[in-house]
Formats: sequence, C-alpha cells, structure tokens
Amino acid sequence: MMAIRSWKFRIYPTKEQEKELQHYFYECKNLWNYLLDHTKTYYEKTNKFPTRKQLYVLTKKKTKLFSQVSQNVADKLVKSLKGMIAIKKKGGKVGFPRFKPIERMKSFTYPQFGFKLNEQLLLSKIGEIQIKKHRELKGKTKTLTIKRMPSGKWFAIFTSELEVPSKHNKGPKVGIDLGIEHFGHLSNDSIIMNPRHLKKAENKLKQAQRLLSGKKKGGKNRKRAKLRVARVHEKVTNNRRDFLHKTSKKLVDSYSLIAMEDLNVKCLSKDFLAKHVLDCSWAEFSRMLHYKAEEAGSEVVLVNPAHTSQECSSCGLIRKKKLAERQHKCSCGADIHRDLNAAKNILKRATGGRREARPFRPETPVESGPLPEKVRSANESGNSICEDGPPSFLQ
Ligand SMILES: [Zn+2]
Repeated sequence: MMAIRSWKFRIYPTKEQEKELQHYFYECKNLWNYLLDHTKTYYEKTNKFPTRKQLYVLTKKKTKLFSQVSQNVADKLVKSLKGMIAIKKKGGKVGFPRFKPIERMKSFTYPQFGFKLNEQLLLSKIGEIQIKKHRELKGKTKTLTIKRMPSGKWFAIFTSELEVPSKHNKGPKVGIDLGIEHFGHLSNDSIIMNPRHLKKAENKLKQAQRLLSGKKKGGKNRKRAKLRVARVHEKVTNNRRDFLHKTSKKLVDSYSLIAMEDLNVKCLSKDFLAKHVLDCSWAEFSRMLHYKAEEAGSEVVLVNPAHTSQECSSCGLIRKKKLAERQHKCSCGADIHRDLNAAKNILKRATGGRREARPFRPETPVESGPLPEKVRSANESGNSICEDGPPSFLQ
C-alpha cells in the first residue's frame, strides 16, 4: 500500500535569503486576503463559491510568487471553504475563513515543483539554502513546506509517497475516551496518563508568559521575553507531539480497532469545553491514529459523541451527571469510573452494539432517554460490552 511520509530538516537561510522568504510570506498573505475578498463578494452576488480554476486564474494576475506556491494559497482557501460547508451541513455555526495579518502567515508550500534537494536546498526564485539533512528522503517527493518558527528557526518539511507493506492487525478492539483528568481512558480500564514532564514544561511556559506581560511595549526587554516564550512554547509543542506519536503508535500496534469520539461533532456540542488547551492535541492525535492505523493494519472508527458519559454502558439508561462527578453509578449495579463508562460506550457504538439494539432506526443517536423497563431488565444481568444481543421484544 502507499503511504505519505514527512521529513523535517532545519534550514539556515542567509540574512538576504531570510528577507526573500519573509517577502514570500507577505505576498502569500496579500494573495490569501485578496482571494478571500473576491470569494466573499462573489458569494454575495451569486450565492455560489468561485471554482478552484477561477481562483487559479486570479492568482496569476495578482502576484509574482512562484506559480505553484500561489496556487497552493488558492488550494488552502478552497480547503477551508469546503470545511466550512461541511460544518454548516452538520448544523454547526461557522463563518467565512478570516483575513490574515502578516503574523498569522507562518509557512508556504510548493505542491509539486519549484525545489530541488541535493547538498543544499534549491528554491526556485530564491536560490540555494544551507540545509542540515540528517536522513535520506525515501519514495517520491510530493511537496515542500517552508516554515518559520516564532523562535526564529527555519524548517523545510518534505512529504513523499512511498510503498509500505500492508499488515493485518489481529489484536482486540478498544474504545478510548479522551479526557482532561487523564489523557485517555481505555475501555479495558487502562489509563494513558498525561506525561508529567509536559506539565512541568507547561508551567515554565506560563512563567515565561507572565514575565512577558510585565514588560513595557516596544522595549528591548519585551522583545527578549517574547523570544523566550516562543522558545519554551516550541519545546512544549515538540514534547507534546513526541508523546502523541508514541501513544498513537502503541495503540495501532496493539489493537485491531480503536474507537473514539468524532471530534468534529463533539466540538459543536454545547457541553464541550471547546476552549481547553487539549482540544488541539486531540485533533492531532486523531490524525496520527488514522494514518498510523492504516499502515499497522488496524482501524479507527469515529462515533457520535452524544451522551457517551451519561449513558450507562451496562444497561443503556441515561444517568445525568455533572462534570465534577467522576464515578458512574447506576441502578443496574454498575459502579465504574466515569471515563471508563464513556470508553465502553464508545467501543459499543463502534462495534454496533447500539445498532443491534435498535434495528429499525440504525442511525438514531442515544438521546431518546431511558429505555423501556423491559430492555433494562433484559440487559441487567451482563456487564459485557459488545456481546449484548438485541432485547427479546425487539427481535
Ligand atoms: Zn445501568
């Protein structure tokens, strides 16, 4: 099977090249804003979005960027518009993508051509840049992204497509509830802890941020404090990513099916703490799980997150509880950790437990309230998750 891989190398542009690269960001920002403005006006007039082709034509008129780079700006806009439409279709509230100030522009991408990697990195219209190539690229190189970190470091990220052997994972199935107390709680009651060193680094970050907020605007000290925040921030991000990589790899190697909540839906629900720091690492974790699973021969299944922590995983009854209530207790005798209960429900939804119980409305989510008395007693005996068959009166 074919898989996409990425390689990240540090690059060392000269002062002159740095200026040139910064200019690219500036041009990309202008182009993004111009295309977005056009799209909005077009939508107001016609109630339609411009096509990718129309946007490509506009990029030619507007900028002197290398054509592939400018087309990629248009591609990114098309992608965010599609995302917006998808969320709207699901009933979520979302506005147009936003105009970007220059600070928000952190990278640009060559989707196919315009670069060459030998001992140095050759960029079309910019020249040869020194690169620290610590590994060889494999497969067919597809894209190159040039990225500037707030700490001032520059990186080149290549993606390539390569053939990898396909596997078939025969391990057990598992549900995972991503949480705040712990990173994740598995349906077999194992827990993935939030790594401690990360917590420490995050405290350091807070400290640096506090220091920064005390400094006068425009001063030299402020500039220095800002750079310090950027450096610590970068370190935290790297550590976190490393943790996510290791955790996701372990899961896809151990389980044949990993069930988790559909974050796109979850983030729309009212009871979700959308502002929490963790949500971005959850999305990244989900993305990692997906691409790693494909290679490891296991499967990731996203389920509807509605009431996963309220529903009793043993009998199906809805047990309303506040966020502070950490234990799930039910009249059926269930008395387990709240997150374990959620993880069991997540697995159940992925393996079709719910579907079997409601053969006539297979897609109905669980918000229909308590089940009738008969169903409750039918399920009362077993604590099992995936094997509970349909209650007799539904057969
Ligand atoms: Zn119960």
